[in-house]
Amino acid sequence: MSARVDHGVVSGTFSLDGETFDVDNNVWVVGDDEQCVVIDAPHDVDAIMKIVGGRAVKAIICTHAHDDHVRVAPALRERTGAPILLHPDDRPLWGLTHTDELWDADLTDGQSIKIGGAALTVLHTPGHAPGAVCLYSHDLGCVFTGDTLFEGGPGATGRSFSDEKVIVASIRRRLFDLPDETIVHTGHGADTTIGRERDNV
Ligand SMILES: [Zn+2]
Repeated sequence: MSARVDHGVVSGTFSLDGETFDVDNNVWVVGDDEQCVVIDAPHDVDAIMKIVGGRAVKAIICTHAHDDHVRVAPALRERTGAPILLHPDDRPLWGLTHTDELWDADLTDGQSIKIGGAALTVLHTPGHAPGAVCLYSHDLGCVFTGDTLFEGGPGATGRSFSDEKVIVASIRRRLFDLPDETIVHTGHGADTTIGRERDNV
């Protein structure tokens, strides 16, 4: 059985620093016909489960802990029994959304997560958030960047817990190490490639 990537867009809000915005979040599901992992848990469990279909969810991987990426992570855990994985440097952000529940296991740089015959390598890429990670799959020829890299350049760094110099360093050191043809699946909006973004960072 070979792994594939499924995708949906889920709408809701993002709040930080006392402001709230409407946002459309990408949800990425990686796996085969039997089992999968879900990358980010925004807004709506039922919408996410439509992308999952009948498959067993083995993990809920959070690219970072902004509320639009983790809001329904505990509810999705309850529905599926899957553990929530998050980089521990995002604990302060997690605590802004979930005060009485934690994630289950820490993501670590270089960790390999295997699903449906593919491997996802965790790249710690701080800047948009201190615990922001990207997930690279050599097997699938793609990288899931959350809000670290978008079509057109780096993610936003104007709010609390963000740092522009740090995100640029993360992208240049870690993501620009990847082959030009690597497809970039982002947290919001369209796909791009590593090669296309080299002049934008
Ligand atoms: Zn974010």
